[in-house]
Amino acid sequence: MLSLKSLGGAGTVTGSKHLLSLGDERILVDCGLFQGLKNLRDLNWQPLPVSPRDIDAVILTHAHLDHSGYLPRLVQGGYRGKVYATPATRDVAELILMDSGHLQEKDAEFFNRHQLSRHQPALALYGVRDAQRAVGHFSTAAFGQTVRLAGGASFRFRPAGHILGAASVDLEWGGRRIVFSGDIGRYDDPLLPDPVPPPEADYILIESTYGNRIHDKADPTEALGAIVDRTIARGGTLVIPAFAVGRAQELLYHFWKLKRAGRLAAVPLFLDSPMAIDATELMSRHMGDHRLDSKTCRQVFAIARYTDDVEASKAISANRFPKVVISASGMATGGRVLHHLKAFAPDARNTILLAGFQAAGTRGRALQEGAPELKIHGLWVPVNAEVAHLDMLSAHADAHELMRWLSACPRPPRKVFIVHGEPEAAEALRIRIGRELGWPAVVPRLDQEFEL
Ligand code: ZN
Repeated sequence: MLSLKSLGGAGTVTGSKHLLSLGDERILVDCGLFQGLKNLRDLNWQPLPVSPRDIDAVILTHAHLDHSGYLPRLVQGGYRGKVYATPATRDVAELILMDSGHLQEKDAEFFNRHQLSRHQPALALYGVRDAQRAVGHFSTAAFGQTVRLAGGASFRFRPAGHILGAASVDLEWGGRRIVFSGDIGRYDDPLLPDPVPPPEADYILIESTYGNRIHDKADPTEALGAIVDRTIARGGTLVIPAFAVGRAQELLYHFWKLKRAGRLAAVPLFLDSPMAIDATELMSRHMGDHRLDSKTCRQVFAIARYTDDVEASKAISANRFPKVVISASGMATGGRVLHHLKAFAPDARNTILLAGFQAAGTRGRALQEGAPELKIHGLWVPVNAEVAHLDMLSAHADAHELMRWLSACPRPPRKVFIVHGEPEAAEALRIRIGRELGWPAVVPRLDQEFEL
């Protein structure tokens, strides 16, 4: 009997891990890290309900940490199989996982040095070497290519927009077809292709990050321009937490448009990330996976100053002249952006712009909800800067776009599983699917098992 169990990404946006079992065979779709709330992050340290040794294949929809970040831990735990991904996802995941291993080691070291952890010594969930081993398990499959797995399963990747290389997965096994949406991107995005709708399927798992929200229709370049203008007019700095691969390139594109319109005059723009240069290279290496031609690509990425060493990054924090700084991580859970927030959040002339979804329990969410101070590296930092939030810059479909993607499925599935959303968002989408399409839909709980 084919069964489905969500070991993460159920009732939360993070930790995506969907386990399919048939007889002795097991396939895991996505292998993400829990992020945000402490009780969720603690789950990263709990053993999975299935031994990694007993999983036969992992299929990765895209490289974001909440979909890929548990892979090093899985390999550490004895996983021996392949990790299937599109070529671009493999390359992006390598950057993300190596960076994640590095950050985990750094954090543990920082906590030990300052004796901030209740655990003595504080341990890293995994390190750079574990990340490297995980990358060694990757096996690539192009969009549209049918991959046959041992145990009789086969699957294909379809473009999902969202970030470079992102895919939906349609998988056939035991006489059933199951579609995993992965994270669904925006329609008419300037950089990424439209998400391709699901084929006829027995079951569909759909993400619901913005299941209860509609993005602002305003032109993102204009909205961004207005924020830059008023920050610079105050003599301030604009800090944008954004991951170096994905959102950062999208932001650069809008800044490039502003610059062409003469709007960004003499303000320097920094992409402060050790991965930024690699990320730019990845866009050029995977030309077929995005909409920019090589000339535009070069122009867009030439407008930022890239800083890959720590001293240059510190110089940006110390420099009080007006500027724009894009730095990771996107939800301010770690990375260099924390140093910039420490430096710039206390001054009311500055602006912090949130350009993507901010999961519950992250510093990004605290900022979005108007927190008067933020805890960074064990210290409370006052937030006097303006905090702006532009949903339309998000890499995720809004509720209308999720419905547009789902309703393009040629016939009603037996059931829709709503995953990758906080409870209110998932529930709102469930109600909407029932009301507008009349399809049975359910929001799985963590580790709840379904027979398919
Ligand atoms: Zn994602």
